[in-house]
Amino acid sequence: MAKQWTEQADIALRADGARVADLDTASTPGFSGDKRLGKELLAERARVLSVLQEKLFAHGRTGGKRSVLLILQGMDTAGKGGIVRHVIGSVDPQGVDHASFGVPTEAEKQHDFLWRIRNKLPAHGQIGVFDRSQYEDVLVVRVHELVAQAEWEQRYDQINAFEKEISDAGTIIVKVAMFVSLDEQKRRLRERLERPDKYWKFNPSDITERAYWPEYQKAYQAVLDRTNTEYAPWYVLPADHKWYARLAVTELLIAALARLELDWPPADFDIAEQLRRLDES
Ligand code: ADP
Repeated sequence: MAKQWTEQADIALRADGARVADLDTASTPGFSGDKRLGKELLAERARVLSVLQEKLFAHGRTGGKRSVLLILQGMDTAGKGGIVRHVIGSVDPQGVDHASFGVPTEAEKQHDFLWRIRNKLPAHGQIGVFDRSQYEDVLVVRVHELVAQAEWEQRYDQINAFEKEISDAGTIIVKVAMFVSLDEQKRRLRERLERPDKYWKFNPSDITERAYWPEYQKAYQAVLDRTNTEYAPWYVLPADHKWYARLAVTELLIAALARLELDWPPADFDIAEQLRRLDES
């Protein structure tokens, strides 16, 4: 553990007992360094992540059945896209299965809410990244009563059972809930309205949703209270500081991959013989 980390990210960010309404979104749990150090460390740790990811990929290519699934949840502007670009972007793209989940399409609506999720689970040896996920079905759906309460109430248990199944099949699940303050969100939305290179990210409904902040906090709290399991733990990530959020997710992924204790697959050929053949060729 680098000296700037006073506590490992996967311990400092554990959701156990977390209160969403009380979270200091500008804090940097477990990390005592500043932005400059954080950025320096990110570059260093990205290389570690990249090697571990390559081992996972090699494992998948040689018949291994393990995978990692990173689930990113957060309100608009929380920085999910930045995590994908800056953290996931540092590993080999062929080892990443990325999926984002928006308003369900007509085809998706013909199935139960987990169907589209199941279809995008990472293959063996892959890091799956979900930008939004099954949790939208107990977040936006709950806040806006898109289905009856009797239906969404059941989904917490359904999600737990689903995640247990994938975990038992060999996937390490890492769930990250990203939070920015209302003020920080306002600042980021304003930037989208002031910078031509950011107009494309702006969606007028993002402003509408700000009025539902307390309801979203309540819905996020229920998610943390009811789906934070040993096999699929939640991490609560204060995300006002983008550099910290990116560094912390890098550490969470490193910890998840390290748990797999993967080594390079052994040669399934006679090395001496192949060297001899190569020399003679
Ligand atoms: P983003 O806003 O992340 O760039 P999109 O505009 O494609 O991505 O879609 C995200 C929107 O889809 C969000 O407003 C989100 O709440 C909504 N959404 C995602 N899943 C569902 C769902 N199951 N039911 C209703 N709305 C959903």
